[in-house]
Amino acid sequence: MLNFTVGPVQMSESVCRLGADQVPYFRTPEFSQVMLENERMLLELASAPAGSRAVFLTASSTGAMEASVMNTLSAADRALVVDGGSFGHRFVQLLEIHGIPHEVITLAPGESLRTEHLAPYEGAGITAFLINADETSTGTFYDMGLVADFCAREDAFFIVDAVSAFLTDAVPMDELGIDVLITGSQKALAVPPGVSVVALAPRGLDRVAASGVRCMYFNLADALKNGERGQTPFTPAVGILLQVNQRLRDLVEAGGTQAELKRAAALAADFRERIQGMPFTLLSESPANGVTALAVGEGISAKELFSRLKDEHGIWICPNGGELAETVFRVGHMGALTPADNEALVTALGQVLSALEAGE
Ligand SMILES: *Cc1c(COP(=O)(O)O)cnc(C)c1O
Repeated sequence: MLNFTVGPVQMSESVCRLGADQVPYFRTPEFSQVMLENERMLLELASAPAGSRAVFLTASSTGAMEASVMNTLSAADRALVVDGGSFGHRFVQLLEIHGIPHEVITLAPGESLRTEHLAPYEGAGITAFLINADETSTGTFYDMGLVADFCAREDAFFIVDAVSAFLTDAVPMDELGIDVLITGSQKALAVPPGVSVVALAPRGLDRVAASGVRCMYFNLADALKNGERGQTPFTPAVGILLQVNQRLRDLVEAGGTQAELKRAAALAADFRERIQGMPFTLLSESPANGVTALAVGEGISAKELFSRLKDEHGIWICPNGGELAETVFRVGHMGALTPADNEALVTALGQVLSALEAGE
């Protein structure tokens, strides 16, 4: 299987090998050591400011989004959230469910965020800002500098869902003044699904400490306290956390975030170059490095492209859901993929398109 979906993604051999091992008992000094290392390496790769902490939740990334909302925001906030696709919309739903007053900036699929979208909220008492750095459903990487400046001017608490942007596009916590950075195991981290991460800068930690959240499993103060000794309140996804450890070590050894960002950008550019002349157009005005969303030409079904690549070539691209299901597909550039893999995909795409044209 060659995996170009947006998660789970293609995993390295070193990560796959670990998946075949027995899973050890975890209330041990050895596992605590692994967890302390995971936290340290994750914060380093996220360029987190001094005094930051990270918790690893055994939950998909939506769990980390919900935990962030519940543990750092309250009815006293006035949040501003960007809804430019299904993941932005998820933040809106979470704010609604948890009773956080909020305003929504709604963008068309693939539309970039611009100064004029923020203008109505200047000096309007916004206390928190939520955004998906890369809106994975449309492959759009938002202008994070624009948002960071807004948050600094308005003194707004800054929550960034970097589930697909972490390690593919630049989201340095220190430079951008990010208070909460969210990511997950099965996207650019390229290990199996099941673990998500909430990285908290000092201001995020202050909000968690003051929150008094009424929830047992998603109590971040409890997770942080246990994390001081490299442990978790409840049984974590031990096997996946060992794979996270391997992957983080591999990343650090290969030159850290800068080297990985360069690799991701080159891989995305290589793919976009190879599909020149094919009947596809980029959906996004500001394409992310982690994923390319493509609108298909007249008479082509995106869903059928997905099925035929999977069934006839063993290559998985990512179908879109909802309204875009027939017209848009996505190609991920996350995980252990190479330009040679891009070549294999584009060759197969060409064959499927020819077959479709010939009515086969
Ligand atoms: C994948 C993803 C999520 C979370 O998805 P889960 O299915 O809960 O892991 C959240 N935000 C973004 C931007 C994503 O790409």
